[in-house]
Amino acid sequence: MIFSSKLIEDAVAEFSKLPGIGKKTALRMVLHLLNANVNEVDVFSSTIARMRHEIKFCKSCHNVSDTDECTVCSNPGRNRSQVCVVENFRDIIAIESTQQYSGLYHVLGGLIAPLDGIGPEQLKIDTLVERVKKDEIKELIMAISPNVEGDTTIYYIAKKLKEMPVSITTIARGISFGGELEYADEMTLAKSISKRLPVENYVNVR
Ligand SMILES: [Zn+2]
Repeated sequence: MIFSSKLIEDAVAEFSKLPGIGKKTALRMVLHLLNANVNEVDVFSSTIARMRHEIKFCKSCHNVSDTDECTVCSNPGRNRSQVCVVENFRDIIAIESTQQYSGLYHVLGGLIAPLDGIGPEQLKIDTLVERVKKDEIKELIMAISPNVEGDTTIYYIAKKLKEMPVSITTIARGISFGGELEYADEMTLAKSISKRLPVENYVNVR
């Protein structure tokens, strides 16, 4: 693409850094902003910058938050005996959208993947173990991708908590999880949360 303006060229280059955005789409977005009111464009860019600068991570569950404690953890109506363990905060958005889960969450920030050099120490597993030790958690629900990394992570956590009086379950494995969880329809996701299996049973079934 040959531009007559370096300003436009730079803006197109920035948009094309976004996932799934090619040069053509980037140009369309830039043209849209070019035709928009200047104030609207200011709101657009400052909203993105504020999000990046001011975002926090909940001190107990590591969910994204505007304050030190996220809206789930600070809600007195949530069931504190259940914690749903997820890979990232996108999974929380998907599960919350089902409106069928009233417990708390714990965001691991990834899965154990030795081939990619990701070990348990890089994930928020220690803080999960701490929470199980000091809070009144009766059940950990593993809503983790059904793949090698997901299984490795579940077994690692289950082993770490072997001596603790907490039951570990995994949601029904009919649907794709992790990055794909957000695309699962809400009914399917809600069903898979209600139909969960103890981790030991799951091991035996396989
Ligand atoms: Zn939280």
